[in-house]
Amino acid sequence: MTSPNAAVTDLLAYDRAHLWHPYTSMTDPTTTREVTGARGVRLRLADGREVVDAMSSWWCAVHGYRHPVLDAAARDQIDQMAHVMFGGLTHAPAVDLARRLVELTPPGLEQVFLADSGSVAVEVALKMALQVQRGRGQPERTRMLSLRGGYHGDTYGAMSVCDPVSGMHSMFAATLPRQVFAPRPPAPGGDVDGWAQTVGELAEEHRHELAAVVAEPVLQGAGGMHVYDPACLGVLRAVCDEHGLLLVLDEIATGFGRTGALFAADHAGVTPDIMCVGKALTGGYLTLSAVVVTTAVAHAIAASESGVLMHGPTYMGNPLACAVAGASIDLLISAGWADQVAAVSTGLEDGLRPLAALPGVRDVRVLGAVGVVQLDRPVDVGRATEAALQQGVWLRPFRDLVYTMPPYVTAADDVRAITDAIGTAVRGEVST
Ligand SMILES: *Cc1c(COP(=O)(O)O)cnc(C)c1O
Repeated sequence: MTSPNAAVTDLLAYDRAHLWHPYTSMTDPTTTREVTGARGVRLRLADGREVVDAMSSWWCAVHGYRHPVLDAAARDQIDQMAHVMFGGLTHAPAVDLARRLVELTPPGLEQVFLADSGSVAVEVALKMALQVQRGRGQPERTRMLSLRGGYHGDTYGAMSVCDPVSGMHSMFAATLPRQVFAPRPPAPGGDVDGWAQTVGELAEEHRHELAAVVAEPVLQGAGGMHVYDPACLGVLRAVCDEHGLLLVLDEIATGFGRTGALFAADHAGVTPDIMCVGKALTGGYLTLSAVVVTTAVAHAIAASESGVLMHGPTYMGNPLACAVAGASIDLLISAGWADQVAAVSTGLEDGLRPLAALPGVRDVRVLGAVGVVQLDRPVDVGRATEAALQQGVWLRPFRDLVYTMPPYVTAADDVRAITDAIGTAVRGEVST
């Protein structure tokens, strides 16, 4: 028998030679670590260590791992059917999920399209916007007005509305649709009026060719963890209404309580025409996303020349994913997500705010269960990750950012462990 350590080495060697990881070189990959299990807020590594997951598996696992309610929902659904096509068929998990989404999303959002991932939801939203304009007799309106600093996914249409410079996709720029970009919205308390004027002018200048405004509400995530003034959402709503544009809000990162409101649009009381959700939708169990729209949008799409929305993925409305999503949403409500997020937020404030005084730290931002330390230099991801692991915490910094989006169920002492580990990682970066 080979020793467990030999098995790990084997697995990691094969992984290294044959498997791509996100945004990682195949020929010179960065370190990967094997995870053998997860429970609560902890990941179990192959070497036996248990570490607090400060990332919620890229912001999804809001209830932590192996939650008994979600495990049961998945098992119960497996006993019925794991999947069935959605063309011509329907099922209770999809209908029950749609009911919850219609009820919880901002008033006026009534129709639901179930898709497979965040990026696909954004593709669907963009196609919807184009079909709406065609349905309204304005087929020349084909461009999107998007925000600098935004991130909306890795597929083609989604790439086109990401930040054109720092959006990780500049290499594809020549083959992407050319969208119109507004400046990054100001931080809370910043010059909202000045920004509003610029956005208004852009919309006016491009009014005959614009179909929609696309934005992440209040928190721009993978584009730089920038928090902006919720009043900017009211500005976008007004600009859209004035110029006949659709407002597409991408709540894939912010939805389901992460920013301290159930949806970030709720911070401003704004209803978009089209809203995308994903990530935490299934509590981190399965890939699923949804696009929720107003009845006016649904009707305008029906009035476009095809009469139907031109999209329909193979795994649309996957019953297993829908069942877990429904259970996850119910759990958010019954467990009191607002109190959970508020408690995590307080812990992040207490633990991270003092880091703002360190030389080399440019900014500290806390919004809901999101805590960000921005440095004045790029982070050495390998070094920062290792420093945090030494303290029993899993972090995945990017660019100049060391940040956390922990599960909402993270207890106060584990939040403390996270902020301590971020402090250690940050000190290690700024001391060199
Ligand atoms: C993660 C993310 C996406 C893309 O979702 P995937 O499931 O990775 O395709 C889109 N928009 C935002 C705001 C995101 O955070």
